[in-house]
This record gives sequence, C-alpha cells and structure tokens, in this order.
Amino acid sequence: MTNEAYLYWECPDCGWDTVLHAKKAGQSCPLCASDSGHFVRLRARPARSTDRPEGPDDRKFEQPVLTRSTPPWTAEQVENLGRWQTCGWVHPYTCPNGSTLLPREDGWVCPHCAYRQTWCWAPMLNGPPPDPVEMLRNG
Ligand SMILES: [Zn+2]
Ligand SMILES: [Zn+2]
Repeated sequence: MTNEAYLYWECPDCGWDTVLHAKKAGQSCPLCASDSGHFVRLRARPARSTDRPEGPDDRKFEQPVLTRSTPPWTAEQVENLGRWQTCGWVHPYTCPNGSTLLPREDGWVCPHCAYRQTWCWAPMLNGPPPDPVEMLRNG
C-alpha cells in the first residue's frame, strides 16, 4: 500500500532515509552535510506503509480525527476516565459549578449537583497521556 501524500527520501551516498510530507521541497542529506560539509540530494519515491526510516517520519505526527464516545462504557474504560480526572497534568472535566465530574458506565456525574455529561473524547477511554514531567526526567 502506498500513501500519495508522503515521500520516502534516501541518501544515495550514506543510505540515510526519511519520510516527509510531499509538500516539503527537495531535501539534502543532514548526515553528509554535517560529516563532510557536502550537500547530497536525497532521492524520492512515494512512501510505502512498510518504510521504517532512520530519520524523521512525518506520518507519526498525523493526528487521527478526534471523535466523541458516548456511554455505555466498560468498567475498564471508566477506570481510565477516572485516572484522567485525577492524574493532575491534564484538565479534568468539571460541572458548571467547578466540581470534578466522576465517570460511570452510564456517563459523567457531578457528586455535588445534578449536572450530567454523556460524552467524552474517544482517546480518553485509553487513560491519560504520559506525565510530561516524568517524560522530561527520563529523557
Ligand atoms: Zn548522506
Ligand atoms: Zn456540580
């Protein structure tokens, strides 16, 4: 399978390769440029889904379309939503009065008022993203 929007670039001199969005103009090899100061033009072909380049891969930054998920949610998904609410490095869902919502299998409830919410962003069901501070610490 090929993806027209991306090009696979390879250095004819050292074999360094990268996959970049097709909108990016012709590239020269950064390894050859820093090693010996000469510019080697990379050769391009349409990227294949099996390409695993040594250099940057623009396809990794393609964001999936964000979709909403509605209940019922499984016990595991509810647990993940709960971690999202309490992890401290992402903003939790709150009611209009500012209380942190609690996830349940039938949707979000406020422990203090009658507020209910019956959707979340689908990726939230997998739990919160990694702690950014922890990521910096581990390099
Ligand atoms: Zn090179
Ligand atoms: Zn409330």
